[in-house]
Amino acid sequence: MTHSAVARAADGIEKTAEILAPAPMPVAGKISLVGFGRPALSEKLAAIGVPERELRMRVNQLWHWIYHRGAQSFDVMLNVSKTLRATLADAYSLDRPTIVSEQISVDGTRKWLIRMPPMGLHDKGAEIETVYIPESDRGTLCISSQVGCTLTCSFCHTGTQRLVRNLTAAEIVAQVMIARDRLGDWPGASRPTDGLVPDADRAVSNIVLMGMGEPLYNFDHVRDAMATVMDGDGLSLSRRRITLSTSGVVPMIEKAGNEIGSMLAISLHAVRDELRNELVPLNRKYPIKDLLDACRNYPGVSNARRITFEYVMLDGVNDTAADARELIRLLKGIPAKINLIPFNPWPGTKYKCSDWTRIEKFSDMIFNAGYASPVRTPRGRDILAACGQLKSETEKLRARARLMLDEGIGAEGVYAVGAGED
Ligand code: SAH
Ligand code: SF4
Repeated sequence: MTHSAVARAADGIEKTAEILAPAPMPVAGKISLVGFGRPALSEKLAAIGVPERELRMRVNQLWHWIYHRGAQSFDVMLNVSKTLRATLADAYSLDRPTIVSEQISVDGTRKWLIRMPPMGLHDKGAEIETVYIPESDRGTLCISSQVGCTLTCSFCHTGTQRLVRNLTAAEIVAQVMIARDRLGDWPGASRPTDGLVPDADRAVSNIVLMGMGEPLYNFDHVRDAMATVMDGDGLSLSRRRITLSTSGVVPMIEKAGNEIGSMLAISLHAVRDELRNELVPLNRKYPIKDLLDACRNYPGVSNARRITFEYVMLDGVNDTAADARELIRLLKGIPAKINLIPFNPWPGTKYKCSDWTRIEKFSDMIFNAGYASPVRTPRGRDILAACGQLKSETEKLRARARLMLDEGIGAEGVYAVGAGED
């Protein structure tokens, strides 16, 4: 199964059959080794005749060049024999997925629209967005785990995207590779001069799985990708600098703690089931109580490793003093941080962001209850890069074309509606 248009269940809850199917290999061109974990690399080396006894050593060599040095060609791998370099180059590439566009916000936020290699005859290549948010002392990369999302949180633009498929582990890792390429974040490379990049050791110092998709619905690929990202001989990002955000897939939370071990963020957004059912429809399956129990039992949770609770501020919906009080009551006993996110509007949404006095009042109450309560400054709004605004360009164009057809305006030359998905 490749990129089928997934019809949503009436209750907005996921359809797993399609998205759980493993993504097949690209149809054309050489297979890129970029993004593969050690077992997959080993397999690819064995396939071109590298003898069993050498595999470990060769994987280590490739690993260093690909993930520590950011090599884009086999030629530079001088400690690999010339013959093996040639054999590798004949069979494989170190290509990254295509960068369709790069946008740089006035505040230095960067957004890349990335097209994955096609996976079927009629597939044009799935598109996802990856966002880089520089601050003075760190740079956070917000990566996607799926193309679109099968969940339908009512305030999230990604949730309105029709096309959904899981990203492979390699496609998840490739987002980090692309960001580091573009930011000159490899040993010896120079940082770009066309925007703000922190003057820190590493341009990409933190990763958040807060782009498109629900990471816990793509568990194996996300776990394998994070293992590659954390590997100390390569990309080497510590698990404390990686945060996985979930809308609350309760049965997978403990497993995530045990097998991924990253920091955890929960998209809570409401303190009563009735409202959360509406904002985050998955709540009908896993209500607030079950979700918070899973948080209490998250492996490794402690005051030094707190869980972040994300709370989007929606005007007149979830932003009263009573909501703040209930939030404090609910989180009692859980080592928690609370992250208030001003709602980022998108075309066609029915919600508005709470006004600033409301947000401040809410934040003060939380602060007075002993929580750090940073309000997340929206970043990259001018390039629609803020939380919940991600949606692939193809989808946006297609929606526009559909609208033009509805209005009786010819869509030719704009985009062929519905072309080539299935
Ligand atoms: N699917 C995962 C991770 C991606 S969403 C999840 O839901 O946690 C990352 C965060 O952005 C979530 O907390 C999500 O609720 C929030 N978000 C989505 N749409 C938003 C919007 N329009 N404005 C502000 N935050 C939004
Ligand atoms: Fe999916 Fe997260 Fe958006 Fe909900 S908030 S629709 S889970 S990406």
